[in-house]
Amino acid sequence: MQNLIKKLAKDYPELIISAGERFQFTPPNQLFYAKTTEYDDNEAQLLLLHELGHYLIDETDYLTDIELLEIEAKAWAKAHELCKKYNLKYNEDFAEDRLDSYRNYLHYASLCNNCQLAGYQDDRGNYHCPLCGATWKHQKIPH
Ligand SMILES: [Zn+2]
Ligand SMILES: [Zn+2]
Repeated sequence: MQNLIKKLAKDYPELIISAGERFQFTPPNQLFYAKTTEYDDNEAQLLLLHELGHYLIDETDYLTDIELLEIEAKAWAKAHELCKKYNLKYNEDFAEDRLDSYRNYLHYASLCNNCQLAGYQDDRGNYHCPLCGATWKHQKIPH
């Protein structure tokens, strides 16, 4: 991990890479990595490349959850590309698991509190229940 951080610091001198609570990209140029995680070293490096992927694809704004999932998938595709450059083994299952946890989260976020029915999301990111008419917006999640 420390090796990768050194290489990234050299290749992307404009980035500020520091230890934080979780793996996260904060625009415009901050990358955070978690020091203690449940992940092994390879997975942790993939997560850091995923966050670098967010920086490189430069799409951080999203309104709907579908857009968020698209951005997530793109950042993983970027991480996959970067693996070649940094001699890392890409782990498709790991990336898919991460995407699945978003899908699950978003599924629960789409359920109406009153009816437990799946609401639909408008293009501004607000959910509407087809039965009781409730509307809600869920918290943006770190990605
Ligand atoms: Zn409802
Ligand atoms: Zn992400």
